[in-house]
Amino acid sequence: MNTKLQTEITIEDICDGFVYNELEGKGLFGLSGKLTIQPEYQRNYIYADGKRDVAVIESILKGYPIGLIYFNKVSANNFEVLDGQQRITSFGRFVTNKFAIKDENGMEQYFSGIAKDKQEKILNTKLLIYECEGSESEIKEWFKTINIAGVPLNNQELLNAVYSGQFVTLCKEEFSNSQNANIQKWSAYISGSVNRQDFLERALDWVSKGNIGDYMSRHRNDNNINEVKNYFNSVIDWVSTVFTDVESEMRGLEWGRLYETYKKQPYDPKDISKKVKELYADPYVKNRKGVFEYILGGSIDTKLLQVRVFDEATKKSVYAKQTKVAEEKGISNCPLCSIGNNTNKTKIWKLKEMDADHVTAWSKGGATEKENCEMLCKTHNRAKGNK
Ligand SMILES: [Zn+2]
Repeated sequence: MNTKLQTEITIEDICDGFVYNELEGKGLFGLSGKLTIQPEYQRNYIYADGKRDVAVIESILKGYPIGLIYFNKVSANNFEVLDGQQRITSFGRFVTNKFAIKDENGMEQYFSGIAKDKQEKILNTKLLIYECEGSESEIKEWFKTINIAGVPLNNQELLNAVYSGQFVTLCKEEFSNSQNANIQKWSAYISGSVNRQDFLERALDWVSKGNIGDYMSRHRNDNNINEVKNYFNSVIDWVSTVFTDVESEMRGLEWGRLYETYKKQPYDPKDISKKVKELYADPYVKNRKGVFEYILGGSIDTKLLQVRVFDEATKKSVYAKQTKVAEEKGISNCPLCSIGNNTNKTKIWKLKEMDADHVTAWSKGGATEKENCEMLCKTHNRAKGNK
């Protein structure tokens, strides 16, 4: 890979012909049309948060360096931004009056409103730009290894860079587009940010059963994303049909796995809704995130709910009572040891050798209260299971 350092290109040069696509949240072109700011392999613009974009402008005004910028020289007169896209889009948007900064009096000022000398200081700032020339694979390999201005690429952003092409472009149009009207519905089940590729990552994770890189490599040159889209929509449709109420704990669950495991089972949405409400109202359920899988699996695996356990005071008091009665009768203080032919028939266990058990199972309505607590030896408690 050949590199050449350019030190005479100014912000004004870059901003000549700057185009920002509000819809897609992308800085597109600059440098009189010679520069593509957001090539396919680049991440979405994530600096538009009123902090990082403002920090870029403040750095420039104070004369601080904003760091190296890398261009990929595509042809004699065409460049793509390899690294620096967030910074370029920030000053490009500022110079075209897309956001304001606060002046020394705390007043919001757009570019057109700041003093002439400040405008000129920004426009005349010279940038340190490396022009790189190399094969696609060289450039991509190198791109993989750089970190961009303190925000490292996450896994999906890296994969998008490595497998860039038609397929990734179509995927991003669908799943990484904050203007997509479906995002709100999807957000009920998927956590993360559209711009950081979290929705795309989920869609690819589901369809590929966890083998995202492999899937992207095989489909890299596809000119449609039907399979990803259809599968993703099937999962979302299934969840929203089975669970008619949207609860905040649904966000970020492994819906792809749950869909694969339970899609063939029939469910009555009304019945499901009733069960969800009951479990949400149950003070003994500690893990609400487990409610959905618990219900899908037939309300059996209570471990998913992390049902509240008996506290130490309750255990001690029940232990004392049980042990006193057992000693009077000359039998084991574990009720299950005391019956039948058992070598431990008369054994008095220590408190630490026993565990608390629900007499009436929690799943059958038994409360986690003293009256429903029974101490069993550890072996019997385990055998009875967490039912
Ligand atoms: Zn026992």
